[in-house]
Amino acid sequence: MRDLIDRLPGGSVITDPDLLYGYRQDWARDPGAGNPLAVVRASGTADVAATLRWANQHRIAVVPRGAGSGLSGGATAVDGGIVLSTERMRAITVDPITRTAVVQPGLLNAEVKRAVAEHGLWYPPDPSSFEICSIGGNAATNAGGLCCVKYGVTADYVLGMEVVLADGTVVRLGGPRLKDSAGLSLTKLFVGSEGTLGVITELTLRLLPAQPPQSTVVASFATLTDATTAILAITGTLRPSMLEFMDAVAINAVEDEMRMGLDREAAGLLVARSDAPGEFARREAEIMVAVCQREGATEVFHTEDPEEGAAFTAARRFAIPAVEKLGTLLLEDVGVPLPRLGDLITGVAAIAERNDVIVSVIAHAGDGNTHPLIVHDPTDAAMTERAHAAFGEIMDLAIALGGTITGEHGVGRLKKAWLPDQLGPDVMALTRRIKDALDPHSILNPGSIL
Ligand SMILES: Cc1cc2nc3c(=O)[nH]c(=O)nc-3n(C[C@H](O)[C@H](O)[C@H](O)COP(=O)(O)OP(=O)(O)OC[C@H]3O[C@@H](n4cnc5c(N)ncnc54)[C@H](O)[C@@H]3O)c2cc1C
Repeated sequence: MRDLIDRLPGGSVITDPDLLYGYRQDWARDPGAGNPLAVVRASGTADVAATLRWANQHRIAVVPRGAGSGLSGGATAVDGGIVLSTERMRAITVDPITRTAVVQPGLLNAEVKRAVAEHGLWYPPDPSSFEICSIGGNAATNAGGLCCVKYGVTADYVLGMEVVLADGTVVRLGGPRLKDSAGLSLTKLFVGSEGTLGVITELTLRLLPAQPPQSTVVASFATLTDATTAILAITGTLRPSMLEFMDAVAINAVEDEMRMGLDREAAGLLVARSDAPGEFARREAEIMVAVCQREGATEVFHTEDPEEGAAFTAARRFAIPAVEKLGTLLLEDVGVPLPRLGDLITGVAAIAERNDVIVSVIAHAGDGNTHPLIVHDPTDAAMTERAHAAFGEIMDLAIALGGTITGEHGVGRLKKAWLPDQLGPDVMALTRRIKDALDPHSILNPGSIL
């Protein structure tokens, strides 16, 4: 340990157990989290490379960590390992000509958005956690969010990166080139690799012109089937800039906290937006209103007011913390091809009933990506067992419907037992070969994904 401390700038390495404690878990609060040997707060690429060279030499595990908002246990510390935090790596430069930004991984998503907005530009990916998650964590999990239904996910905006490999080698992949087909598509290999293949120390991000003003539609439905039918009818008609869903539990949990007049009697609520240019935003919103009414909405509200629209978006973003007030959450991220969305949502309701647990469903509905939130009391052993049974059954259901166990949060430690069922033996073996080639001593985030 002493030689690692000597290789890094003073104050980079934390070994105080009280301080280490705060770096053991991410938002998934994995009870199996280990006790790390130390936390390294890297100030730059050289610190990351020095740490990995040392760890590789001594066969010590390294868990990369952004802001610790992950929901799959990917940033869970391992016993005797190093937590490598990027929180001090926060530089950004913006190039308005190519519409790109070069950012270090520790900057929060919201800070990236604010910095590029000063140049009249927009970085679209917007996880609900945008104010508390790092851009490096977003790239490592291929984060999604609310505007992905129209604008895509993090992978669609990563043009290049600098990444430090397990043995400390620093490589640069891609760059500020809007087209580049030289060599294998290695940049994309690292997007979504959840800290298991390398540590991302810099990202080159593609930017768009500022988003036009949005029109917002909020619709309540008396049945889940009406709500999911309306979702498919909207996506079959136009391309909204947001199409989000909350079920009755989430509506009431949000309303308890925010008091904004949501329909507490509804089985499901849609928040949909359009950012089509000029008058077309209003026109698209009117079409969405008509579709919701046709599909049996009990209430439909349409606003052009940006603050009102933002308030409904904020309410949807707040759904996870609001439902968390009801108990400890096991948080799912299952997704299906859109035509199977209704089967997934009604199937989850059946799983909740069978296991006698509350499962609230919120969704980036336009992507077919749902977040069933399984509420339980961890001091009640029987309930916890039922909650874990439901957790597995929901992933089994998603796989059976041709879907995925994770749309945007990643596999981490919580979902890895189900990955072989989704990918099959050949793809698992290929994944293992790639991991072994890049990290032969398996020091990078061991126990995550594989
Ligand atoms: C309330 C709430 C709402 C959320 N909503 C969304 C949402 O809408 N969409 C969404 O996609 N996610 C959402 N999330 C999940 C989470 O915010 C994202 O997964 C986010 O991308 C994690 O970023 P982070 O910086 O916190 O990463 P961490 O939790 O620190 O790490 C996540 C993973 O990335 C790895 N990692 C982190 N930084 C690096 C790096 N520089 N190099 C290599 N590997 C690295 C870690 O090892 C870990 O495996 C939500 C979370 C919360 C708490």
